[in-house]
Amino acid sequence: MAHTSSLQHRLPHDGASTRTLRASEKTEQTVARSEALCRDRGVRLTPIRRRVLEVLHGFDKPLGAYDLVDLLSSQGRRMAPITIYRALEFLIDQGLVHRLASRNAYITSSGTPHDRRATTFLICEGCGDVNEITSPDVADTVLKVLQEQGYQPRTKILEITGRCARCQDVH
Ligand SMILES: [Zn+2]
Repeated sequence: MAHTSSLQHRLPHDGASTRTLRASEKTEQTVARSEALCRDRGVRLTPIRRRVLEVLHGFDKPLGAYDLVDLLSSQGRRMAPITIYRALEFLIDQGLVHRLASRNAYITSSGTPHDRRATTFLICEGCGDVNEITSPDVADTVLKVLQEQGYQPRTKILEITGRCARCQDVH
């Protein structure tokens, strides 16, 4: 369950066409699953919410709200940032998207949206890669500590910044 660097995947000598195809199929599946989930919950994945989810999933790396505005604006018609923020707010509420506070950026969740346990993101300061870790051990420990502290968390997202294994090799 890793969000790997999508830029690396788009290098032409790296089988770009097959990877891109596979990625878009994956995106379609995720969006279809998210749509079903919204239907079950009686909320609507409107076209703009759907587009934001598609773009975030397609990039597979964190994007800022203004990146989304740029990507979703059609030629000559710029989208209002508030429209994107509202869509993001909805997607976060539904557990489909996470906001990375340290980056002020948004990323899709690779875990099931039902899973409300703690999610850990390992963020590389070298290449910007974000790896989502869904470890029950980490989640259980975090929840236990929160309970002991009598603390009511608003978010259960852990962000750890540093350098990924690949970037540690670069000298
Ligand atoms: Zn890295």
